Amino acid sequence: MMYSISKTRLYLATDSLDWMINRSIKQSLSLQDAVPLAAGEDSVPNNPVETLYIHIPFCHTLCRFCSFHKVKFQETLAREYFKALRQEIREVISRGYRFNRVYIGGGTTTILEDELIKTIELIKSLTTIREVSCESDPIYFSEGNPSQLKGLVDRMSIGVQSFDDVILKSTGRFEKFGSGEQQAEYVSRAIELFPTVNVDMMYGFKVQTADSVRQDLLQTMALNPDQITTYPLTVGIGKNRKKAGCLAGDPHELWPQFLAVKQTLAQRYEMDFPWTFSRNFGQPVKNKYVLDGEDCLGVGSGAFGRFGEQFRISSFDIADYIRLMNQTQSGTCYTKPLESKAVMQHHLMIMMGHGHLDNKVFKDHTGRSLWQAFPLEMSFLLASGAVVKQGDDYHTTEQGQFIALKMFVGFLSGMDHLREQARDLPLTSI
Ligand code: SF4
Repeated sequence: MMYSISKTRLYLATDSLDWMINRSIKQSLSLQDAVPLAAGEDSVPNNPVETLYIHIPFCHTLCRFCSFHKVKFQETLAREYFKALRQEIREVISRGYRFNRVYIGGGTTTILEDELIKTIELIKSLTTIREVSCESDPIYFSEGNPSQLKGLVDRMSIGVQSFDDVILKSTGRFEKFGSGEQQAEYVSRAIELFPTVNVDMMYGFKVQTADSVRQDLLQTMALNPDQITTYPLTVGIGKNRKKAGCLAGDPHELWPQFLAVKQTLAQRYEMDFPWTFSRNFGQPVKNKYVLDGEDCLGVGSGAFGRFGEQFRISSFDIADYIRLMNQTQSGTCYTKPLESKAVMQHHLMIMMGHGHLDNKVFKDHTGRSLWQAFPLEMSFLLASGAVVKQGDDYHTTEQGQFIALKMFVGFLSGMDHLREQARDLPLTSI
């Protein structure tokens, strides 16, 4: 009885949270106030920027539900693109930007191995980088030459999503990347080559149950990756909603599935956030997302950067991006001011995910206490049992971890929403 009352309270809380998140995404992440950025208008920070994000927007075939920025691969265009990308990297480094780490995402990052290698070698020849992280699909470890990336990539993140053939077939990933058994074999090959391997998994599919989520993660754990990133399928709020929505299950099934994730991974992994888990021995591994207070500079077509209360957007049109690079030596074409409320909401999500809402840290960061910044949200979190008070601070309960996860999925939906609008911004090259 107690369980069903608290479950009802949680569902009421998460249903209203979904509504609030969708509303706030539309308000605070609208690109109506985006303004063109002239080359050289930005000021270079004194300290290293945490992440240099590099986008590779090409795929051999385009997946139905994917909202990332990508186009169908054409070799001539892709080679021209890599050339422009290296030009942009040279330019930002010569202007004084320094980075702690590099994150390469796509698209299919390894689509032209020789170009990718040249790009990483260029960065390493120009500046010191603590870590190079690269996304990849599983089939690369069967059809490509991943040993060529040994010594260049420190952390390989492989998007598997599920080892269950029924899910792989329903998402079109079986035909593209092979069966669950084959993909497990490819992940094992990657683990032999790279110092750190992350496996991306997903839940919340229509055919999934808490038990099948558990089985999927037991299979993932058997491979022994350093890190497992796992969160529910993001349905989003825009054009992609219909396509992704066809695959998604009942949102109320996510709570038992989240509990299954936690209980299964707790055997050998530590929860960094409710969406990332690291092996609880050996070296701790870094979270892939831009964390609280960590700035990011994006290069390449379709890349985003975030500096304090400002978003920077690179051209989503590949020909426009190449022209911009030739004309102005910068692919960033728009900036958008971020409301301080949106930045504080991001801090709140990260602190909820960490499990500790530290009033002092929050005040040092924002100049306001949690209650001054979020009177409604704090009442909501307390009333829904998501946080409990301890001294001046608050701690996240298990329900609160689930709410943090929903906030994180909301953050991903917000990024999808930005991408959709950015595709429609007027081109700025001549
Ligand atoms: S391969 Fe990856 S990036 Fe490319 S379309 Fe499919 S899901 Fe999207």
